[in-house]
Amino acid sequence: GEKQPTNLNALAEEYLRLAYQGQLAKDDTFTCKLITTFEPELGMVELVPQDIGRILLNLYNNALYAVRTRARSGGPGEYQPRLEVTTHRGNGKIEIRVKDNGTGIPADIINKIYQPFFTTKPTGEGTGLGLSLTYDIVTKGHGGDLSVETQEGQYTEFTVSLPVTNPKT
Ligand code: ADP
Ligand code: MG
Repeated sequence: GEKQPTNLNALAEEYLRLAYQGQLAKDDTFTCKLITTFEPELGMVELVPQDIGRILLNLYNNALYAVRTRARSGGPGEYQPRLEVTTHRGNGKIEIRVKDNGTGIPADIINKIYQPFFTTKPTGEGTGLGLSLTYDIVTKGHGGDLSVETQEGQYTEFTVSLPVTNPKT
């Protein structure tokens, strides 16, 4: 695909609905609160919409899997699954953050998650290619950055940072 000026808020929203509908189709007894905080002054961002859409879908699916897994593990107390998506415009870049309050990522595997074929999911549930593809699309494809913050048993937050190549519109 080609880079084109894109409304990233609309793209992020569209794929969030897609991911959530997919989750509900698999298991409509499990619901998750979706919270979107979109920067209204984001402007148009130069990106390949199909590629960024695809990686957002993977980040959302990973997040939904993590909250569903935590919900099913049935620990003590109330658990309210949440998926928060935030867009933000900073100095020369825009950021999109995908945060879930699911299982978190254990410290001993955190440095493997970007490796192709690394997965902790059962056969058929994951290929282990999502984050390696995400890393390539964000860094090589768009000159951006990908980072993660996580706490096992509590939350995971991925941040995709993309350079702004045209003035604010
Ligand atoms: P897959 O989803 O096919 O397993 P990914 O490359 O998308 O492959 O993710 C690799 C691994 O990283 C997952 O199997 C999981 O262990 C971990 N992971 C990714 N996102 C999350 C998340 N939001 N919460 C917990 N673990 C995650
Ligand atoms: Mg995945």
